[in-house]
Amino acid sequence: MRDSFTLYAQEIKQAVDMRRALEHYGIAVNSAGYALCPFHDENTASLKVYNKSFYCFGCGKGGDVIRFVRDLFGISFREAVEKLNADFTLGLPIGQRLTVRQARDMKPRQAQRLRTRSDEAEQKAQRFSEYLDLLQEEDHLRFVMEMCSPLEGEETPPAEWVNASRRLGYVGYLLDHFYLQENAESIAGKADNAA
Ligand SMILES: [Zn+2]
Repeated sequence: MRDSFTLYAQEIKQAVDMRRALEHYGIAVNSAGYALCPFHDENTASLKVYNKSFYCFGCGKGGDVIRFVRDLFGISFREAVEKLNADFTLGLPIGQRLTVRQARDMKPRQAQRLRTRSDEAEQKAQRFSEYLDLLQEEDHLRFVMEMCSPLEGEETPPAEWVNASRRLGYVGYLLDHFYLQENAESIAGKADNAA
């Protein structure tokens, strides 16, 4: 059951764009891709909305659409997955006991999807857009750190700087991870071709 749940979470993240989720829950996103952060009090929009993630430059909160719903409604991971499934009528059979047959079909079905050419292209495009998102966010975080860098003699750096620096570490990790994964895939692809 745990595996199918992770699978559902993945499907939800693919299906529901961050912006769509925000707007669905009544949070307007401006033309620059910013929204008023629901997690802290503010008058100027500092929550940046990316395709598949968000990050608030004011309070440092960030994550994917499931994290957003969890924090917005104060609910668990499981509840957030169920809520998104219901609110966006995705029709995933969450919470229903899988029949042996359904459970058995789950993995091959996924594998088959991966094998289909068009889906493969779609996945690549998806991954590429996530990658661009991360690059964009990294750029932004660097900019924020520059703008908010501690003044000379200042003992504690501004909170914005600390938050951005933390998030930058994580984004850097994700980008490295992406790079390694792409590399592993292309190496595996070459080995496949050679065989
Ligand atoms: Zn915030």
